[in-house]
Amino acid sequence: MIFRQLFDQASGTYTYLIGSRPGGEALLIDPVKEHTETYLSLVEQLGLKLVIAIDTHTHADHITALGDLRTRSGCVTMMGERTHAECVSTQFHDGEQINLDGLKFRALYTPGHTDESFSLVMDDRVFTGDALLIRGTGRTDFQNGDARAGYDSIFNKLLRLPDATFVYPGHDYKGWTVSTIAEERRFSPRLQVKSADEYAELMGKLNLPSPKLMDIAVPANLACGRITGG
Ligand code: FE
Repeated sequence: MIFRQLFDQASGTYTYLIGSRPGGEALLIDPVKEHTETYLSLVEQLGLKLVIAIDTHTHADHITALGDLRTRSGCVTMMGERTHAECVSTQFHDGEQINLDGLKFRALYTPGHTDESFSLVMDDRVFTGDALLIRGTGRTDFQNGDARAGYDSIFNKLLRLPDATFVYPGHDYKGWTVSTIAEERRFSPRLQVKSADEYAELMGKLNLPSPKLMDIAVPANLACGRITGG
């Protein structure tokens, strides 16, 4: 397997490139529009063929590269079945397996941060989008976010993966790159709660400012990454 973790400094977003083998197929998870050229040249440098680009959810802090990547490479664009984004060629449902040249990704419906968020489990790792971050969790105060749904996704789905599963989040703002399920269960301050109510109370007190790009990014991400309006 070929694995690369790429970072967008402006939004603190992680993008993941996973390839089956040199000369084989590749997919991108949560690609950022501004880096489209970088992704395409990296895919070429590694001798890979990009066949799938996936967004874990509709992002509020950066514009997706899905539309541009599909136009440029002919790859299939995918999101979960509840998305309203127009440039998605294929939607996956909870439990569905996505095959990439021998690699298997299992779609896991993990709402909370948004009502259409999915995580992707592959072998020894899980790509959590913003459902579970390192020592943190995705905010639940907009885009149909729901802290109780987030609690259920985290405690009843993600934390039930094997302890040693590597956690690769959709964002980081402090320099963390990877964690494990056991590490997050034990050390994440957000996960030291005893009930969904307690978690909802904690999330309700966060009082975070809106993402800078939200009013541009959300409509653009529903429209294939095209920046609309004025
Ligand atoms: Fe997000």
